[in-house]
Amino acid sequence: MQGLIDRAYGFTERQAIVSDGQIFTYGELLERSGSVAAALLAGREDLAEARVAFIVPPSFEYVMCQWGIWRAGGIAVPLCVDHPLPSLRYVLEDTAAEVLIVHEAYEELLKETAEELKIQLLPLREIPHESPSASLPTLAPADRAQLRAKRSRRAQILYTSGTTSLPKGVVTTHANIENQIKTLVDAWEWSADDRILNILPLHHVHGIINVLSCALWSGASCEFLPRFNAHTVWEKMASGAITRFMAVPTIYYKLISHWEKLDESDQTRLSAAARTLNLMISGSAALPVPTLERWREITGHTLLERYGMTEIGMGLSNSYRGERRPGHVGLPLPGVEMRLADAENNTIHLANVPGEIQIKGDSVFLEYWQKPEATAKAFTEDGWFLTGDVAELNDGLYRILGRDSVDIIKSGGYKISALEIEAVLLRHELVDECAIVGLPDEEWGEIIAAAIVSSATPDTTELTAWLRERIPAYRLPRRWLQLDELPRNTLGKVTKNELKKIF
Ligand code: ATP
Ligand code: MG
Repeated sequence: MQGLIDRAYGFTERQAIVSDGQIFTYGELLERSGSVAAALLAGREDLAEARVAFIVPPSFEYVMCQWGIWRAGGIAVPLCVDHPLPSLRYVLEDTAAEVLIVHEAYEELLKETAEELKIQLLPLREIPHESPSASLPTLAPADRAQLRAKRSRRAQILYTSGTTSLPKGVVTTHANIENQIKTLVDAWEWSADDRILNILPLHHVHGIINVLSCALWSGASCEFLPRFNAHTVWEKMASGAITRFMAVPTIYYKLISHWEKLDESDQTRLSAAARTLNLMISGSAALPVPTLERWREITGHTLLERYGMTEIGMGLSNSYRGERRPGHVGLPLPGVEMRLADAENNTIHLANVPGEIQIKGDSVFLEYWQKPEATAKAFTEDGWFLTGDVAELNDGLYRILGRDSVDIIKSGGYKISALEIEAVLLRHELVDECAIVGLPDEEWGEIIAAAIVSSATPDTTELTAWLRERIPAYRLPRRWLQLDELPRNTLGKVTKNELKKIF
């Protein structure tokens, strides 16, 4: 995104990225992304929104490629390093990528596909270290000004998680991304002195915008762990260098499980170290309240939960300085216009009445890539984006009830939130993880089914009896299933359509 690159000229000497034990400055990032831009341009003036896919693990090289693509005027299409070939092919084909920058670990895997799809393969190792500055129009200040004028251009295509259907390519412009970043930098009070530890995949807004780009916008630094590992994350926090951390709920769950198994002296040491961070955030899926509570006991941090989407960046957030209420996602972020709406798209004014979250604002995406019908269907006539998520206003703060398509179960005339049942069930001492879905039923429309993960073998009659004391009878699961693990996608979200098939 041009704004990021522009700002980087203001702090060329500062540390930007820590990866593989090496430190890279903003200056180095500018220089090396310049080499990428030069390699891509190869004599041309401007890629003019050509799609450039890249598959590079979270590292300095990843950022260098992302910035290089932007500087050459291309649309960045980051591929998921954990996806199997058919998923990668889907994205390459769908975007009609012109070039694919490939890290050597993926060259073999992708060679044939690139050939078949007539995509130019650009091995990362062939990009020269030194940038031939002369061939770099984007380096000169005059050209930077010109690029600023191109803010309305397409900058990136990210694919949704595919939690509910085939992933859709979400197109954001440079201006969209800039707004998404600026909103968060202000709301979460990023400073140039921050260092964030990134353990998230970099083909999603969570890692790309909330972690990496907010850090680089602020002149702060981002340290990459190539892969999540609970021990390493704890020790990194103990190193004293990290000031903030963001993750999905399952990651916090794993960090807690790891900590519980340590001896007392390590527990004390790590708990004390975690207290020195200034911010810890959870998002991408509902944060179970027991996880929030245990994390608070261990680290002293009340996780800041927020709500967002590939299409909008972040929409709602608990406050950095004010109240962070468990089970809630706070209020719309500044610059985000939000309403709750009923089935006829009328705004709901009453508290405690569920409605669909609808969003307007400069952070909202431009279009689904080459899906004009899907794009049109995603907006009301007067421009509200339909998130498909249901929420309610509860004592001044919003609470997510789930996705209309899979989490709102329609049974016997009731609309039942799967997330609410999950929240209660997770309080049972034998339930480690759980997911609630609706299964088609002739009599009831849908019946409630519960999948649980437990190290014991809880008796489902007893679980039902336990639940009966806490929730109304019409919300009780009729079918139970114990699994070794819940089906999840690369972001750790439970894929409920998969789960329904398992039932
Ligand atoms: P697809 O659109 O392909 O089905 P997806 O919706 O999971 O996948 P993303 O854009 O990555 O793709 O995820 C956004 C969704 O994640 C939101 O629409 C919402 O359902 C869920 N979500 C994000 N944050 C929260 C949160 N704090 N609590 C509950 N749900 C959340
Ligand atoms: Mg979605």
